[in-house]
Amino acid sequence: MTNTLFDGLLGGGDESRAFAVIPGDPTRRYIYGDVQDVTARFAAALIESGLKPGDRVAAQVPKSIEALMLYLATVRAGGVFLPLNTAYTPAEIEYFIGDAAPRIFLCDPKDAAAYREMTGRLGVHLDTFGLWRNEADSAGTFFDRVPDSADFETIPRGPGDLAAILYTSGTTGRSKGAMLSHRNLLSNAETLVEAWRMSGDDVLLHTLPIFHTHGLFVASNPVMLAGGKLIFLGGFNADAVIEHLPSATVMMGVPTFYTRLLAREDLTRDLCANMRLFTSGSAPLLAETHRAFETRTGHRILERYGMTETNMNTSNPYDGERRAGTVGFPLPGVDLRIVGADGAPVTEGEIGTIEVRGDNVCQGYWRMPEKTKEEMRSDGFFITGDLGRRDTDGYVTIVGRGKDLIITGGFNVYPKEVEGVIDALDGVTESAVIGVPHPDFGEGVVACIVGNGSQTEASVLDALSSQLAKFKQPKRVFFINELPRNTMGKVKKNVLRDEFGETFA
Ligand code: AMP
Repeated sequence: MTNTLFDGLLGGGDESRAFAVIPGDPTRRYIYGDVQDVTARFAAALIESGLKPGDRVAAQVPKSIEALMLYLATVRAGGVFLPLNTAYTPAEIEYFIGDAAPRIFLCDPKDAAAYREMTGRLGVHLDTFGLWRNEADSAGTFFDRVPDSADFETIPRGPGDLAAILYTSGTTGRSKGAMLSHRNLLSNAETLVEAWRMSGDDVLLHTLPIFHTHGLFVASNPVMLAGGKLIFLGGFNADAVIEHLPSATVMMGVPTFYTRLLAREDLTRDLCANMRLFTSGSAPLLAETHRAFETRTGHRILERYGMTETNMNTSNPYDGERRAGTVGFPLPGVDLRIVGADGAPVTEGEIGTIEVRGDNVCQGYWRMPEKTKEEMRSDGFFITGDLGRRDTDGYVTIVGRGKDLIITGGFNVYPKEVEGVIDALDGVTESAVIGVPHPDFGEGVVACIVGNGSQTEASVLDALSSQLAKFKQPKRVFFINELPRNTMGKVKKNVLRDEFGETFA
């Protein structure tokens, strides 16, 4: 009997190979043999704290290689890993702990006092998990339980057993816990190793948070499966990225990483000479960023599309044209269809809702059977809620979230189309187009623009009048200092809708 995900990712290979390093910290240089050793000891500590197969281990801990090994140890101990955004407040965390009912909750030592009463009341075992091998009093109580050595027998778990629950970032309503099985995670890692040609020679510069699917799974699992190495940075910092790009071969990022790197004059072709692959996802990459990055570095960023519930769905090709503004083709093993409001597939080139099916798609939402039913069709397709189209040559383009679609006077307006036209105007850095209540039209189109001050509302409206049908043209234009974004770089349109909701009242 095996443990599908743990053995699948780490079961074979050369244990003397480098696994992960934190630059400048000689105490944090791990080889694959250390991963076996440390995860065995962590797993023993989790079981000593009461973990039984299928129990959840919730963790709101600082990013570290040890935290990545906590995920692996939880899976190895038969548990279900539940990472939580480090920005969540105690009130938010209480919702997740109440909903997920974990056996164990690990938090940053500095937050322990804020959580003690709540975990006591809910009967959850609380441990602290800081940076290991720091001063004894700051490392955390979890490490006190970790034995010096452990002859640990990995707990067998099958492909259909849960390995993780990740709560969706959910900008509206309650966050939902996507239940990810061993098969979901392992199959997607296998697919990405093939699609992106990952190998034991790869060195991935890891700058993403590890409480989200992008950093925890997409940027980590394929590297481990291929036996490559991680350079682990605490977060995205342009100075550090510039410093370490010459030693890396792969970087995975969100679009804002690339715009921030482009702002640096020392981002050059020479700096990226050792790099093999840059990928982007979690939010749309502007075609302009794609082109600027290629001009500067010679690299065409590979844009891909996925979500917490489905892992990765589509990718631009490794070989072949990486087409700016598109998310490429469905990955092998992923069925993708685009359907209209009636649920029937639309014709090529037409916009509809994207639905996907495959081993990548989660098992549903934790303790929300009704929500699961709403978003999962009887033939196994998951309704992503994203709107997109597929061109005649197969490339998929995302045009936005369904809930961001604007319906004005009965006409559909896709914000991305209007944003694309606005972004191309002189002096505009970026924009977000939203719909807000309008007494005559139901919704009215509003544009929020970040720019250098050279445009005015009148000049923007004038420029758009010749480029967009009347119903797509914004009725009002507002200039703001920056677009509100979440940690993954997604624009929080609900914040803008709140702010400008009274525009036509
Ligand atoms: P999350 O579950 O936080 O990973 O968010 C998933 C959502 O991010 C998707 O449903 C899309 O709306 C969006 N997304 C992910 N990748 C892309 C991309 N390459 N282009 C546009 N939107 C994306």
